[in-house]
Parts: sequence; structure tokens; C-alpha cells
Amino acid sequence: MKPLSKTVSALPVSAALAVDLRAKALCAKGRDIISFCVGEPDFDTPEPVKRAGICAIESNDTKYTNASGTQALRAAVCAVLLRDHGIKYDASNIAITTGAKYAVTASILALTDPGDEVVLPAPFWPSYDSIIRLSGATPAHIPCSPEAGWKLTPGQLERAVTPQTKALILNHPNNPTGAVYTRKELAALAKVCQAHDLFVLSDEIYSHLTYTDEPFCAAASINADMFDRTVTIGGVSKAYAMTGWRIGYVAAGLEIIRAISALLSHTTGSPNSIAQAAAVEALLGPQEIKLRMKQTFQARRDRLFEALREIPGIQFTHPQGAFYAMLDLRTLLKDGNFKSEADFALQLLEDEGVAAVPCTDFGAPGYLRLSYTLDEARMLEGVARLRRFVERNRIDDTMEP
Ligand code: PLP
Repeated sequence: MKPLSKTVSALPVSAALAVDLRAKALCAKGRDIISFCVGEPDFDTPEPVKRAGICAIESNDTKYTNASGTQALRAAVCAVLLRDHGIKYDASNIAITTGAKYAVTASILALTDPGDEVVLPAPFWPSYDSIIRLSGATPAHIPCSPEAGWKLTPGQLERAVTPQTKALILNHPNNPTGAVYTRKELAALAKVCQAHDLFVLSDEIYSHLTYTDEPFCAAASINADMFDRTVTIGGVSKAYAMTGWRIGYVAAGLEIIRAISALLSHTTGSPNSIAQAAAVEALLGPQEIKLRMKQTFQARRDRLFEALREIPGIQFTHPQGAFYAMLDLRTLLKDGNFKSEADFALQLLEDEGVAAVPCTDFGAPGYLRLSYTLDEARMLEGVARLRRFVERNRIDDTMEP
């Protein structure tokens, strides 16, 4: 047999997958596993949204739609971007996709050619890295520091730009750090983007989950120039507990949307018609779930950090948004009991039945990601197990031979 595609074969095998597979195997054997791995809200899709989906089926709204989505959903996305972020798009500036992941995929494929570079601040959601590589472009990882709140600085961006740089990826609130850029910080980055004529792909899928005093600021809202160069990514997965419905969107200039629409017409054909009808209801119907989710996650975040503070040897920064926390294991790893964060994660799973994601693929070696998308009692039980695990391994380390 001839070899498979070099590009696809070169995609990294995820360290998180190893934990996930082992957790599933242990669950199947009846072990009580507490999982901090899940990247989706533990809420149900709101009833009116479910009913809109059912109604779409019953009224035979079950055919192909326009490749870039129904007019109703594109208009709803425009209304929401104006309502929530003050950015004014026309429906022709919107493409609906099969989840926000495909919005990112289609945007990167539409913007880049082999040989281009894309600035990717680290830590990052691993799919950006893989999608950039799939497009033939090269990701330029720029490590951000916890001291800078895990945010890219204008100086770092300036130094990262080369004649091949085509785009910058921004993701805020960030998965996995929870970092949220202020308007002032975005304006400073925007100046560098303008000076070097870079596209900005701003993934704002967690925009409803910020715990800062300043309201969330969309990159495209900074100024007219930034509006023109920004490709905004969003979706209903995280905001309305609709991860399984697979609806995301891209908002951008007409030329970019035309290119993305052509790509969509040849790849996904069209997004699911039923899910699109439900997404219209999610975006334009009662918004109460968003507030409830935000209050729940903020309270959980605070409880989680109170409990984590009690664990010796683990550092962390306070996430300002989304529902992830990153634990700095580097002091523990230095002690030598674990080879890596992946080794720590697998051992933690075997010994205590706690599953968490090693940040190896997130461009953050030495860190572990916890999602606080589980109920508070289970979450606190998970942290108690983590504490026991850390203390046991530290005690072993300090014992006389
Ligand atoms: N963007 C980020 C930063 C994410 O964390 C995720 C999912 O985890 C997505 C996009 C994908 O969202 P969707 O489920 O709508 O494809």
C-alpha cells in the first residue's frame, strides 16, 4: 500500500487522548472516575431551543440549506454581534459552519498558503496548531508568561513578525489559560497588526464567560481598520450548552466570506438544517441560560481555587474567563517523581481516579488543565484526591532512604 498523506500523518497524537482512553477503560471496569477533562458546559440545552429543533423536523425543515447557512441564522448572528459586542455586520458577512471548530478550519484554509506563517500565542487550543499545519502554513508559537497574565504583548508580536507572517490567532477568553484581553491591550496589538498588515483570527467562543470588571471586548470592535482585518469566530456550543448540535460561525469581510463559502460548499455542503433552526432560537430567544452559566462557573472557579490553594507545591493563575484552570506542576516535576505532565496525569488517574488534561499539546509543558464543568461536590472531591496524590508523592520524595 502507498503511504498516507504526509500532512495528515504528521499531525501530533494527543497526550490528552491517552488520558481520555485510559479514563474510559477504567470507567468501563467500574472505577469511580472524576473527570476534569470535559470542555463543555454541564447544562442542558434550553427547552425552547430543543423545541425549535423538534419543530424544524416536524415542519420538514430537513433539506440542504445554503452552504454558508440559512438567511435567518446569518441575520440572527448579525443581531447578536451588534447586541452583545456592538459590531455591525450584514448577513452577507456571515458564514455558518459545522461547529466553531470548522469555522476556525475554514478561516485558516481561506487565509493561508503553504509557506505562510501564523503567529500562535502559547498556551493555545491544540486544534489551531493542527489546522495551521494542515493548511501547509507554519505556526509560530510565542510563549506568553503567567506574569503577563498569559497574554501576548505588542513587543512579542512585533518581534515574531517576519515577511512570511500572514495572520495572528487571538483566543479570548482563552482555552486553556482563561486570559481575557482588555480594550487597551487589544488596541495596542491592533497597531502592530496594522503596521504589518496581518489578518487577525479572533476566536471569541467563550465571550459570554468573563469574570472581569471590564466588559468583554471583541477584537473587531477596536477600530475600523481592525474591523476590516479581523475574522471573528463564535458559536452556540458553549454559550447555550449546544456542543452536540454543531453550529458555529465566522464574521468577516465579504471577500473572506466568499472564499469560506466556496470552501464550505465543497466540504460540509451545508450545516445541519435542524440545528440551524434551533440556533436561531438560542441566539434570539430568552438569554437567561448565559447569566446562569456565568454565575455558576464563576462561583465554582472561586471554590476551586480556594481548595487548590491548600495543595502544597502547585501554583496557578486566576483565570478571568471560560471554564478552565491551569495548574503549574513544574516544581513537582522538578522533584523527579514524574517524567512529565503526561506521566503525572496518567499516574493521578491510576492512583486516585482523577482525569485531567496534560498541557503538552497546548504549548505549555509542565502544566495540567482542569475544566470546572462538573458539579461542585464532585469537583471538591476531585481536588481532595489530587491533594492526597500530591502529598503522597511529596512525602515519598522527602522520606529518608
Ligand atoms: N474554539 C475554542 C477555543 C474551543 O475551546 C473550542 C472547543 O473546545 C472550539 C473553538 C470548538 O467549538 P465547537 O464545539 O463549536 O466546534
